[in-house]
Amino acid sequence: MDRRCFFGAMAGAALAAPHAALAAPLAPIARPMRLFLRHTWTTTMSSSDYRDTILYTLHHDGIEAHGEGAPIVRYHESAESGCSAINTKLGPNFFHDFPPEQFDKTLREVNRRIPGEWAAKAAVAAAILDWNGKRLGVPVYRLFGLDPTEGPLTTFSIGIDTPEKTREKVREAAPYPVLKIKVGLDSDEATINAVRAETKKPLRVDANEGWKTKEEALEKIQWLETQGVELIEQPLPAARLADMDWIRQRVKIPVFADEACLQAADVAKVAPYCDGVNIKLDKCGGILEAYRMIQTARSLGLKVMVGCMVSSSLAITAAAHLAPLLDYADLDGNLLLREDPFTGVQVKDGRLVLPNKPGLGVTKA
Ligand code: MG
Repeated sequence: MDRRCFFGAMAGAALAAPHAALAAPLAPIARPMRLFLRHTWTTTMSSSDYRDTILYTLHHDGIEAHGEGAPIVRYHESAESGCSAINTKLGPNFFHDFPPEQFDKTLREVNRRIPGEWAAKAAVAAAILDWNGKRLGVPVYRLFGLDPTEGPLTTFSIGIDTPEKTREKVREAAPYPVLKIKVGLDSDEATINAVRAETKKPLRVDANEGWKTKEEALEKIQWLETQGVELIEQPLPAARLADMDWIRQRVKIPVFADEACLQAADVAKVAPYCDGVNIKLDKCGGILEAYRMIQTARSLGLKVMVGCMVSSSLAITAAAHLAPLLDYADLDGNLLLREDPFTGVQVKDGRLVLPNKPGLGVTKA
């Protein structure tokens, strides 16, 4: 379907002359997508059986491209607010005025028109890069000059649960060589003991700001170090940077900032207080901004992880195209779904295998 047909169809109208189609009311081109989880997903921040993400479809010059963003409740975003921002701020003529092939300029305009709504902007940015890859006939990683075989191992995440459920999830995670364990509650020791009753795999631990004092965090991390944990993410609330540094001076494993590092400007802000940053497309506004953050982090001597939210293979594959630039990948949000509406990046022996197809290389499942 070409762009004219698409907007005509979306408006529920019979095909009309081009100008009539272009003059139609703003076409709804972003819509919420509900994704059901295999297990109830619990972190220190929330608990849910499903997640709603933003699915954005871009039609331009006969090429159809897609992007997905997963709104983060902590930043007061929702699929509704994100879709509404896209559908009202980027009208049917947007890509005529700002062509997708000039993606740097076009994404600057997207950022100017849509304040906040980082997940929505991530969906638009992914679709624009998908479009460019398809137009040029190359995978997105080629647009960044990357070798797709260079990506690190990715983790499989275990949400907070009862010891019995945790053990069940660890058994289900058998194909994945590194696990990421969510902690940050009084049950942390029981959780890790349950994991260790099942496996000796290396663990990465994410407290999601859950520990209350630096002393409590230090005590927990020093115990975690004896349990084969290789890094700790966001031990304390995001604003407590000096306390994060205090902890870092006293532990052996790297301390990563996640909730303390959202967009590019935050990388320089947190650099003196942590060893690495967890970058997410849904926090920073998309793949191009994430690329800039990675370069900034490298220039400041930081280690780099790219993480994700619960989302389909569409969003996870977009992030995975940057995997060759990373020390750590935590790109498993699609593996936690009961059903994934898309097929894209695969995990083989813990490594991300990128599709060798134009654009993001994602197809409908
Ligand atoms: Mg985290």
